[in-house]
Amino acid sequence: MEQITHVIDGEDVASESGATFASVDPFTQQAYADVALGGRVEVDRAVAAARRAFDEGPWPRMGYAERGALLHRLADLVLEHSDELAMADTVDMGKPITDARTKDVPRTAQNFRFFADHARLSAGEALPMDSGHHAYSLFQPAGVVAAISPWNFPLMLESWKVAPALVWGNTVVLKPAEDTPRSATLLARLAVEAGLPSGVLNVVHGFGPDSAGAALTEHRGVDRITFTGESGTGRVIGRAAAAHLTPVSFELGGKGANLVFDDADLDNAVSWSIKAIFTNAGQVCLAGSRLFVQRGVYDEFLARFVAAAEALRMGDPKDPATELGPLASEEHWKKVSGYLDEVAAGGSGRMVTGGPADGWFVRPTVVVDAPLDARVVCEEVFGPVVTIHPFDTEEEGVRTANDSPYGLNAMVFTENLSRAHRVSAALRAGTVWVNCFFIRDLRAPFGGVGDSGVGREGGSFSREFFTEPKAVVMQV
Ligand code: NAD
Repeated sequence: MEQITHVIDGEDVASESGATFASVDPFTQQAYADVALGGRVEVDRAVAAARRAFDEGPWPRMGYAERGALLHRLADLVLEHSDELAMADTVDMGKPITDARTKDVPRTAQNFRFFADHARLSAGEALPMDSGHHAYSLFQPAGVVAAISPWNFPLMLESWKVAPALVWGNTVVLKPAEDTPRSATLLARLAVEAGLPSGVLNVVHGFGPDSAGAALTEHRGVDRITFTGESGTGRVIGRAAAAHLTPVSFELGGKGANLVFDDADLDNAVSWSIKAIFTNAGQVCLAGSRLFVQRGVYDEFLARFVAAAEALRMGDPKDPATELGPLASEEHWKKVSGYLDEVAAGGSGRMVTGGPADGWFVRPTVVVDAPLDARVVCEEVFGPVVTIHPFDTEEEGVRTANDSPYGLNAMVFTENLSRAHRVSAALRAGTVWVNCFFIRDLRAPFGGVGDSGVGREGGSFSREFFTEPKAVVMQV
């Protein structure tokens, strides 16, 4: 059985008590690794190591170019170990290996490269004042950052937090999701190999409540908490952070609305809408899980969409041809299947295609005629399940799309330029994609409205969160 350790102060370490938990491959449904189970003791050690590296080590005192060069080196190593890292996430959560290789791993390297360059090239503001004084800003590292990540894009989302935290001079304790421990340990080892000083990037494994997650977010020695996960967990972490007034950045759940207008390029709309809900078996915070189609193209769109959904290749995630793997765990499969059982029982719409399958698989599922207050329409299913609804007017489409406590992202498909701008402005969402999906500029703000998050990350938004911006005012 493979052993997955914590990485604390540059060393692979087991838990003091020797406790472990199993990591399960969702395709074989077999445990493949023993993972060190961290708690308060390991979190204390990791936070102390991170604090030492921050207070006494060279990291926060290095220039941006020097830190950036080390993070570029780490990006190089990530790409050199692409196969191993990709397979780690595939075995941990059933992500198709081709996606892990061609998307998650290169994006991880890109996150390190982007933030390394962004910090080096960022300018501060100088404000000549009418009084003759000059004010300017300094962006100083915040200290020890706690990063808590989910299981759906394990390595990629970890790098989205770790890279900006590190480049701005902080040290980090990362607690990966319990379902996906492997790539985080590999990343921390690569960081040591790249030359990051000991204690700069630490990884502690464990669960959330009464485990490593809670110990880390309740820790007095933590200066920032960056969390990605469920909205309910965000509320719990928010309460823990309030005890020490620790600033938080939350990227939470979503229930993305996808609006397809009569004047859309239907080939393009179908192709992106399929990706928006079935990529990663729908286990995507940004998934376009509520699809609203204008009545004039509803029947044609539905027919083409269902045909494309049925053509997706489901199977062993380690097979490069697979497009849809199993769901990440038995618990998650039961949750998603529960929504579909409810639909099958009647009153929550009609399944045109899909449904639970053998193993922990769920086939690409399309539900129509669901009332807008059905659970499958309102709640984050987090699986390959889309509800499709007709609408008549632009006003109705926007109003229905906005009728959700979530507001992470939305999509608009139209060839009408004015409508594209008008609807983008009217949608209640952190990101709106027009005639596309999932395209990211890492300088842009990323985050959610309402239950989808607190704060924004990306480019200078990450700088603001991971530093203590300071004003210096000089009499000249
Ligand atoms: P989750 O909230 O169950 O767990 C996320 C992390 O929080 C895990 O590491 C877990 O161990 C930890 N955790 C759980 N309880 C905790 C506690 N009390 N204290 C401290 N840590 C705790 O989420 P998940 O199931 O791993 O991920 C899926 C969710 O993440 C979905 O809701 C999805 O939409 C969301 N997500 C959001 C984004 C985004 O960018 N907004 C991206 C990916 C996933």
